Amino acid sequence: MNGMRSSLRKRLVLGTWLLLLMALAPPFVYFDRTIREDMLEEARKRATETLSSTQWVLSRHAPFGSEDALEAWAVEYARHTGVRFTYIVDGKVMADSDVPAERVHLMDDHGGRPEVVAASRGGSGMEVRYSTTLRKDLVYAALRVEGIAGLPAGVIRVALPVSEVRDRIDSMETGLLWAFIFSLLASGGLGFLVTRPFLGGIESMARAAQAIGQGDYGRRIRDIPGRELRPLAHAINGMAHNIERHLAVLEEQKGRLEAVFNGMREGVMVLDAEGRITTINRALTTMFEGIVSKIGRTPLEATMKPELQRAVDDLRAKDTTEGRAIMLELSDGRAFEVNLVPFFDEAGRCVVLVFHDVSEREKLERIRRDFVANVSHELKTPLTSIKGYAETLLESPPASCEQAGAFMRTILKNANHMTKMVNSLLVLARSEHKGEKRVLAEVDAAEVLRQTLREFQPVARRKAIELVCEVEGAVTVMADRDGLGEVFRNLMDNAMKYSPEGTRVSVSARPGAGVATFCFRDEGPGIPENSKERIFERFYRIEREGDTSKEGSAGLGLAICRRIVRSHGGEIWVESPLDPATRRGAAFFITLNTPRARVGVV
Ligand code: ADP
Repeated sequence: MNGMRSSLRKRLVLGTWLLLLMALAPPFVYFDRTIREDMLEEARKRATETLSSTQWVLSRHAPFGSEDALEAWAVEYARHTGVRFTYIVDGKVMADSDVPAERVHLMDDHGGRPEVVAASRGGSGMEVRYSTTLRKDLVYAALRVEGIAGLPAGVIRVALPVSEVRDRIDSMETGLLWAFIFSLLASGGLGFLVTRPFLGGIESMARAAQAIGQGDYGRRIRDIPGRELRPLAHAINGMAHNIERHLAVLEEQKGRLEAVFNGMREGVMVLDAEGRITTINRALTTMFEGIVSKIGRTPLEATMKPELQRAVDDLRAKDTTEGRAIMLELSDGRAFEVNLVPFFDEAGRCVVLVFHDVSEREKLERIRRDFVANVSHELKTPLTSIKGYAETLLESPPASCEQAGAFMRTILKNANHMTKMVNSLLVLARSEHKGEKRVLAEVDAAEVLRQTLREFQPVARRKAIELVCEVEGAVTVMADRDGLGEVFRNLMDNAMKYSPEGTRVSVSARPGAGVATFCFRDEGPGIPENSKERIFERFYRIEREGDTSKEGSAGLGLAICRRIVRSHGGEIWVESPLDPATRRGAAFFITLNTPRARVGVV
């Protein structure tokens, strides 16, 4: 900035000086030359005239008696005319108006002086020379003479100053030079003063432009130093405005993208050209604990999964824009489908990884596979038995009618078991299908419960079981009547089935705020702690020693109950044992919404 300022200023001052020099120097040199030449010319002319007039005066003079007489005349002549007069014979000075008589013979030989040499040779000679005696330029003019005023043949020499004016001109020139130097200094100072506000304006403009360049896009140039710079200032201001606007748009887009990025359910990981993690989204941080601290590391370091790193390395090594997908299973049972897509930035090939959590899908798939296997297995056992007995009856009929009857009863029992299982499966399938569009209405659950108990009266009587109904009045819930009946029947069926003879089974209903709770209690063997959740899974049965009730049990009843209860927005669970001393007894609870809490279609 300062550099620009000084160089601009320097150029300006130097330019002015050059201009001044160019304007003043040629006329100065020209006039100086001409005047000096003219002066010299005039001095020469004067010298010639003086020489001829001196010769004339001398030629009229009576012969000099002695050298001293000539000397005296010379002094007198010089005094009147102001001209130095010298008479030289064969190089030796005979008389000189400026040198006293007694010292004339001490003067050095003048025969070698150019004007004397020229005069001795051809009549006259002239030279301009600086006189050390008088300390100024003198014109020397010499003429050879013979036989005048009784003098021996010699050379007359006159010397007169080139000009008095010349000294004046010299001093004038010195004055002029000083004036010139002064004007140079003055123009320099003036240049400094004139450029100050202008350069100051440019400086503040440049400062504003610099600030804009460094990211202060809200900054504008307000002081414009001159009209000529106005378009430049407007252009810079416009540029800053545009950058500011584009930045705002970018910022907004970035915000939107970030919202999408972080709102995604899929986990996203972006790798740079070196294969290191640069960005991750929120979903990914919930998928891999502590991954936030792994930014800048490789996917292997972040997930400890070599197969993921291999897939990334493969993709980075290949020259393709096509992505690929891999399955990733974690040790905790979760499963991810990872899509790897390459993209390019200025540094090279980068990769974006999208993690879909497919644990649920995988789990459902596994359940489906297990279910099919279970169903096949459950049906195969009674079927094998039926087939075996039927074949035996055909191929080698038993001898006694009694034995044949036993065979057929076994066949019938197995067929009944299969029928029951297929029926249960149908109920389960129906309840699952129905679950999505079950129409709920106000139902008096107490009434349904009493009806169910009535159905179980004969069984209870047979097993000497005391059936206690602790339900009074009406308990209205939002339910599908058939579904509700199915649940109550299943729970009652289990209670009756697992209760030993002579025990008690009681049912109760408690209406609450928004939900009603129903309970089925028995004094049976109870449910072990680790099976309390699992008994609600399909085909799960508790193996008990000497348990005969297993026949006709498919392990589907409670699964059906849970399916139906949940589709009502309720919950089902078991508490067991009920008697800490005997560690027996089980209580199955279900909750259902009452009309105040929920009305309509689920
Ligand atoms: P199942 O059709 O075999 O009764 P459930 O799904 O109804 O199948 O029951 C699953 C398992 O839960 C049964 O094998 C049984 O051992 C156990 N269970 C169910 N109800 C009771 C109960 N009231 N008392 C003890 N065990 C029970």
